[in-house]
Amino acid sequence: MARIKINIKEGTIKRSDKVLGIDLGTTNSLIAFVNPANGQAECLGQDDDKIVPSVVYIDALQQFQIGHAAKNKLITEPDKTVYSVKRLLGRSFTDVSEHAGSFGYHLVPDMGKSMVNIEINGKVYNPIELSAQILKALKLKAENALGETISKAVITVPAYFNDSQRQATRDAGKLAGLEVLRIVNEPTAASLAYGIGLDKSDNKTIAVYDLGGGTFDITILQIQNGVFEVLSTNGDTYTGGDDFDRAIVQHWCSVHGIDINQLEQDKIAYQNIRLLAEKAKITLSDHPHFEASIQFWDRSFDFQLEVSTFQKLIQPIVEKTLKCCRLALKDAELEHEQIDEIVMVGGSTRTPFVVESVKRLFRKDHVNNSLNPDEVVALGAAIEADILAGNRKDILLLDVTPLSLGIETMGGLMDTIIPRNSKVPVNAGRQYTTSKDGQHSLRISVYQGEREMVADNRKLGEFTLNDIPAMPAGLPKIDIKFMLDADGILSIDATELRSGVKQSIQIKPQYGLTDEEVEQMLLMAMTNAEQDMNRRQLAETVTEAEQTIYQCKKLLYSNQTLLSEEEKETTLQAIDELEKLCQGNDREAINHSLERLNHITRPFAERLMDEAIGKALTGKKLDAL
Ligand code: AMP
Repeated sequence: MARIKINIKEGTIKRSDKVLGIDLGTTNSLIAFVNPANGQAECLGQDDDKIVPSVVYIDALQQFQIGHAAKNKLITEPDKTVYSVKRLLGRSFTDVSEHAGSFGYHLVPDMGKSMVNIEINGKVYNPIELSAQILKALKLKAENALGETISKAVITVPAYFNDSQRQATRDAGKLAGLEVLRIVNEPTAASLAYGIGLDKSDNKTIAVYDLGGGTFDITILQIQNGVFEVLSTNGDTYTGGDDFDRAIVQHWCSVHGIDINQLEQDKIAYQNIRLLAEKAKITLSDHPHFEASIQFWDRSFDFQLEVSTFQKLIQPIVEKTLKCCRLALKDAELEHEQIDEIVMVGGSTRTPFVVESVKRLFRKDHVNNSLNPDEVVALGAAIEADILAGNRKDILLLDVTPLSLGIETMGGLMDTIIPRNSKVPVNAGRQYTTSKDGQHSLRISVYQGEREMVADNRKLGEFTLNDIPAMPAGLPKIDIKFMLDADGILSIDATELRSGVKQSIQIKPQYGLTDEEVEQMLLMAMTNAEQDMNRRQLAETVTEAEQTIYQCKKLLYSNQTLLSEEEKETTLQAIDELEKLCQGNDREAINHSLERLNHITRPFAERLMDEAIGKALTGKKLDAL
């Protein structure tokens, strides 16, 4: 048996170590820790200084500026200023290309096609190294505030982050010099911040509504006897307060006859209006009216917004979040009235219309929004860090996996092994077999998602079980076990049970880094990975073709009477063509030719089978006599 770990190693933690709680947000990031003096979680920094905008500016000398200083560059140098990088973490160019136009900077595919990159000053950066820059700045800030070196952290992610995105977050932490003890779902952290469940007599069902700048999550939590259990999660990785800003920009454009496409071309003007729209939104959280003048394109524009108009503009966006809430309730098999408490998280829940809409949906007069919605996730992360440090042994956290995990079976179908919303940690397994006689290797491709065809799901990685002893198709028993740990990290075991084959299996996550690779340039690693993968795929195809040729020749010569001369000739021609192609490296052509050979020999195989069945039946009759 061989074990494949997709994640990087976990470290152990000494009780005295300070562990930071980090909310690595789409718009803003925060750090918190539990103050040993009073046991309370607190955010580091004073007032406005608590928030570090998740913005990275890169100058011509490739020097980085993070936070407020970088945010200011959004206006003057938008093409060198990266915001919302969290949307790109662990994503491929294809994943985000639909939204590429809404980023003020230049997105490019990477060579390995598995990770979107950002091009600035002619140099390519990946989202992991940029996120690592933000984390480094947070680490430094904490070290300055606390006067000691910090090396451990808990980082939060949206509940909808898939394994690649969680892994990318871990890697970013590692690149920043942090040992990431756990990746925690943001809603879970938020409920901890409200202290819900810390009192063991709390038996409640909670809905955590988290509307940030870029993402929306709804989580239904059940808290019983001090145990947190996530009943269901739902959300939308492309809905948030940024969309409110965009809706305002579009509204102003239509009111003032500004061509939105032309505006998007002028990155500086676009950013100016985008930031003004955000200011309008924030103002309308406690004022009925917003008004401001702005100059661009040698003109002066007077932008206004009434709260009633704003509500109409954002109504469809808020409705999208409510739809997710209904689905989460359905997944949890709960009705509105079974929800005891609602927790509001994320800067966008400061918009009163959002709060009112949520109250209406859940038919509640009251929601929990007493804590600063920007801070709750970081505070909860700090409490989780405290739990992991062993300071709160009485609390146990259970979580669920947001998407199904499975492998590809014949015909490109998704075969789910761990269904979505399974409580983690969870182990599950299934037995598979070979499809060809004498098959000595089996490629196992691991996917995540809910669609029937794997092509529509996200590939996490693949590996090959080699050295299966030659057996007729269907005889090998290949046991595949999935183990999902509390961080949502997947380990896979594969064993051929009949032979007890023990061999080393390699997994090639589509994207992902080993310990050794983390320090290297990610781009290079991925470029090689693709080459390696292509070579391996070619080798596998050739092996398969050679096996088939061997079987065909064997059958051809040992069953001459079953084939007509014409059939023999066509088969030999097809074999010859395939043998020649196997000398080259055109995998597609080999596959095509292999398919042709299989097609030609299929009727022959069927005839052979009929004959075998005939013999078997005769045998049975004789036995019965
Ligand atoms: P988060 O991702 O949780 O940091 O949330 C950031 C989002 O909250 C951004 O879209 C902000 O524009 C938005 N936000 C911050 N303050 C307010 C406010 N007072 N009213 C409405 N939205 C706000």
